Amino acid sequence: MPEILQLPPDVVNKIAAGEVIERPSSVVKELLENSIDAGSRRIDIELEQGGAELIRVVDDGCGIDPEQLALALQPHATSKLRTADDLFNVATLGFRGEALASIAGISRFIIQSRPRDHDMGAELRLEADDRRVQRPWAGAAGTRIEVRNLFHNIPVRKKFLKSPAAELGQASEAVTRVALAHAAVHITLRHNGRTVHDLPPCGSTRERIGLLFGPEIRDALHDIEPVPGTHRVSGCVADPACDRGNNRLQYFFVNGRWFRDRSLQFALADAYRNLIMSGRHPVGFLFLEVPTDEVDVNIHPTKAEVKFRAPQVVFSLVRSAVKDRLQRQNFVPKAAMPARPIAPPEMAPLPNLFVQPRAAPPVQMPAAAGPSTPAQPREPAAIEHPIAPPIAAAPAVQMHDAYLIQETPEGMLVIDQHALHERILFEQMRRRLAGGRLDVQRLLVPDPVELPAVQAAAVLEVAAELAELGLEVSDFGGGTVLLSSYPVLLGRRPPREILLGVVDELMSKDRTPSREGLLDHLLATMACKAAVKAGDRLSPEEIQHLLELRDLAEESHHCPHGRPTTLLFSRQDLDRQFRRT
Ligand code: ADP
Ligand code: MG
Repeated sequence: MPEILQLPPDVVNKIAAGEVIERPSSVVKELLENSIDAGSRRIDIELEQGGAELIRVVDDGCGIDPEQLALALQPHATSKLRTADDLFNVATLGFRGEALASIAGISRFIIQSRPRDHDMGAELRLEADDRRVQRPWAGAAGTRIEVRNLFHNIPVRKKFLKSPAAELGQASEAVTRVALAHAAVHITLRHNGRTVHDLPPCGSTRERIGLLFGPEIRDALHDIEPVPGTHRVSGCVADPACDRGNNRLQYFFVNGRWFRDRSLQFALADAYRNLIMSGRHPVGFLFLEVPTDEVDVNIHPTKAEVKFRAPQVVFSLVRSAVKDRLQRQNFVPKAAMPARPIAPPEMAPLPNLFVQPRAAPPVQMPAAAGPSTPAQPREPAAIEHPIAPPIAAAPAVQMHDAYLIQETPEGMLVIDQHALHERILFEQMRRRLAGGRLDVQRLLVPDPVELPAVQAAAVLEVAAELAELGLEVSDFGGGTVLLSSYPVLLGRRPPREILLGVVDELMSKDRTPSREGLLDHLLATMACKAAVKAGDRLSPEEIQHLLELRDLAEESHHCPHGRPTTLLFSRQDLDRQFRRT
């Protein structure tokens, strides 16, 4: 029978360190958190070889009393927690008292510290033979920690370290998270003698975001102001046009602590639903303030996750704060102008054409008329706007049977007729559904639609949702489904085309997790299939009608799939490109 033994303390430490200290960035995170907890105004971090050789963190915080220095390195020794109850009221970043002990146990470790009100501080060095040597130290007030040769006694861990560049990337991310949550603290990061970050104290998070991620992101941000309450959220979210291919620019913080949370990522994505294309991700920096007893920060070894007492409250708070903020914004995407004007061809003498324009009979154009405007000038329709239209605009010309061009005081709008019609149908359907007055037309004779068996099954699986949207399908057997009704609003196209569009979409996409999401998704697909297409010639009345409906739409700038419906070529940009300014 194997003998049971109590493990010696150094082995216990190594096991604990294994959980908390995965790589150099874990050390950076823990030491930074300690410096923040110590009330530091400035923290300097220095790494060599991605942190594998050296991690040095110097702060100007409260320091540690020389008499307590040795204790700080003991496992489960902390100044931040007294009783078990305190665990449910954590107001500091650290609380377990294991970081310093863990790090010291797996590196060559030196700590030097002097409290602000002491003339003399102390230095504690861990020698190779595990002896601890303490001596007086008269450095600057604050704490200075050096971690050399990390994992020297855990070769397996050392072997798993990545390249210095990759380790630096991780460490830089750890610094970024703390720097975002503590914008007023001056933080620097140097690697192999080169400055990676120099973040002076910032008056706002937005300013710090600019320093970390550049002006493009900073200038696309919209501030979210907290609303008084027990749970509050503030921060900034970026314009939908600033979307990204992954969700790495989504940061969540609670009470000054970074954490990751899939459900809040979903809340953020949901707030941007219909504003950005599927597969793209919004950019957001959100800071939650909740009472400390409403959040358990002790559920994860590296404290990367937290548990809210009322997760659904936090979810709706985030979703509605972001959604409300986005709704207040007028998101006409700006057309990206070429950075340089198109180069003129080799300069030949100017052809006569430019000098003396060929005299076509002058035509009196209506205000915004372009070259192919139908001859009859039209009055802009006098319609009542329940919401002020975002931009006062003149009537519009169709171009290539696909785009509508409209003059506005700000410049020129180019409208994608399909995307706009899709958005309008989508909103009309959604409004009627919400009001319980969706008109449905029953087919006199149900239309049998033959499909491959998997597709028939996929459609029948969402039959209840489709019926709710006015598209009734039932199983006829053998891969055939019977289509027996369609929503009147979408009657422009044959109902079976709409159904086939839904089938395509069902087969190509991962399923949205929520029922509400599925309904929205099906609705967007149906609106897309029923809308006018590029290539459809529209009559002047149809164009007029479409534009009137555009002014009435809640969110007319993006189609429900998130593509822009409208691009603005601003007068300013045009003038610049033509070198008028
Ligand atoms: P915890 O942060 O969970 O308390 P640590 O092992 O990280 O545990 O640190 C142990 C104690 O050492 C802290 O509670 C704190 O009192 C002290 N300490 C650590 N780092 C610093 C620092 N940079 N400045 C002042 N005190 C520190
Ligand atoms: Mg700590």
